[in-house]
Amino acid sequence: MSLVLGAIADDFTGATDLANNLVRAGMRTLQVIGIPGPDLALENIDAVVVAFKSRSCPVRESVDSSLAALAWLQARGARQIYFKYCSTFDSTDAGNIGPVSDALLERLEAKQTVMVPAFPANNRTVYQGHLFVGDRLLNDSGMEHHPLNPMRDADLVRTLSRQTDHDVGLLARSDLAAGVKASSDRLEALAAQGVRHVICDTLDETDLATLAAVVVELPLVTGGSGLGQALPAEYRRLGWLDTVDQAGRLEPASGGALVLSGSCSQATLLQIKHFLNRYEGFALDPLKLAKDDTQIGQALNFARQRMGGKAPVLIYASATPDMVRQAQDQLGVAVAGERVERALAVIASELVAEGAGRLLIAGGETSGAVVSALGICELRIGDQIDPGVPWTQTRLNGRQAPLSLALKSGNFGGVDFFSRAFEVLL
Ligand code: ADP
Repeated sequence: MSLVLGAIADDFTGATDLANNLVRAGMRTLQVIGIPGPDLALENIDAVVVAFKSRSCPVRESVDSSLAALAWLQARGARQIYFKYCSTFDSTDAGNIGPVSDALLERLEAKQTVMVPAFPANNRTVYQGHLFVGDRLLNDSGMEHHPLNPMRDADLVRTLSRQTDHDVGLLARSDLAAGVKASSDRLEALAAQGVRHVICDTLDETDLATLAAVVVELPLVTGGSGLGQALPAEYRRLGWLDTVDQAGRLEPASGGALVLSGSCSQATLLQIKHFLNRYEGFALDPLKLAKDDTQIGQALNFARQRMGGKAPVLIYASATPDMVRQAQDQLGVAVAGERVERALAVIASELVAEGAGRLLIAGGETSGAVVSALGICELRIGDQIDPGVPWTQTRLNGRQAPLSLALKSGNFGGVDFFSRAFEVLL
C-alpha cells in the first residue's frame, strides 16, 4: 500500500512525539530530518514525519520548507497531510501556525482545516476554544514567560485570528458530544460561511476519536501529537491501512551501549545519579573542554576500555545549576554550550565508528548536535521506552548493522531511564 500519512513537524522532538503516537496506534513510521533525497526507500512504511526546526524561524522560511515537504510527500502518494506543532500552540502574532496552514491549504486546493492541539494524555485540553495546561489556562501556565513564543492569550480563535486574514471558527464540545454526523455538519456549515480554520475543543480520548472520524478525509489536518493517536483507527476503517503485527519492530540491536548526556534538566540529573549507583560514568568539564581536546581523549579512552563489556557506558556534561552557572560565567552561555555539544558530537562519531551500536542521547540540543555530526537523515521509529521517547534505528554509510538511537529531551523519562532503556532494547 502507498503512504497513508505525511506529516510536517515544526521541531525535532515534537516530530518524534507524533511518530511515537502513530507507531503505538499501528502505523509503521519513518522520521526524516529535513527533506530527504529523491531515492529514499519507503517500503512497508505507512507514515513519514518530516522534522524541521521551523517553529520560531522567519515566516517565509517556515512556509517555504513546509511547502517543499508537502511536494515531497504528495509525490509519494500521501493520502492525508498533518501539520504538527506544539500542544501549547507555540507561535507569535507573526506565525508560524497561521501562515503555514494557509500556504498548505492553498497548495492542496482545500477549503478548510482543523486545529487540534490538545493532548489529553499529557493534560493539554481545549474547551470553548481555550487551551488548558492541567487546570491552568495557557496564559497562566508558565507559557506566558516562554523566551521565544510567550503565550499570553489562551483563546485560540483569537490567537489564530491574529496570524491569518481568513476566518477562524470553533467546533465546540457540544457539537462533538452530539456525535460524528453533527460535528461534520457543523464543519460544513462553517465552510459554507467561509470559515477556513476551525479550532476544535477536545476534553478527552473520546473527543479525539470523534474528531478523527470527522476529519479523516480532509486533505490537511493540523495539531499536536494527540490526534495522531486516534487517526490510524480511522485509516483502517477506510481500508487505507493494513493491520500489522508490531508497527514498532526494529532489526536486532547490536554493538556497544553508550549514554551521552548534555541535558542539565532535573529529570536527567536524577537519571544520572540513579545510573551511577550501578554503572560507571565519565564527567566532562566545560572549562577543561574550552582549553584543549585532552579531556575528549580521556573520555574516549574511558569508553574504549569498557565498551566491550555488557554494561552501558555514560559520558556526561550534565551538572547542577550552580556548576552550569559557574561555567557560563567564565565562558559565556553560548560558548559553554557549544564546547559541550562539540565534545559529545566528536565522542559519538569516534565511538560509533569503533563499534558503538546502541546510543542514548539526553538533551534536545545535544541530540541535534549528535544527530547532525553522525550525518543521520532518517530514523525508523520503534517501541516506546517511556512516554514520548521511543527507540529508533538508522543506517549509516560504511556500517553494516543498523545504529539504534534513543533521543531524550530534558524532562522526559523515569528515574531508571538510562539503564532500563537498554534492558527493553532487543
Ligand atoms: P535539555 O533537553 O535538558 O534542555 P539540551 O541538550 O537541549 O538539554 O540543552 C542543554 C544545554 O546545556 C546544551 O547546550 C549543553 O551543551 C549545555 N550544557 C551541558 N552541560 C553543561 C555544563 N556543565 N555547563 C554549561 N552548559 C552545559
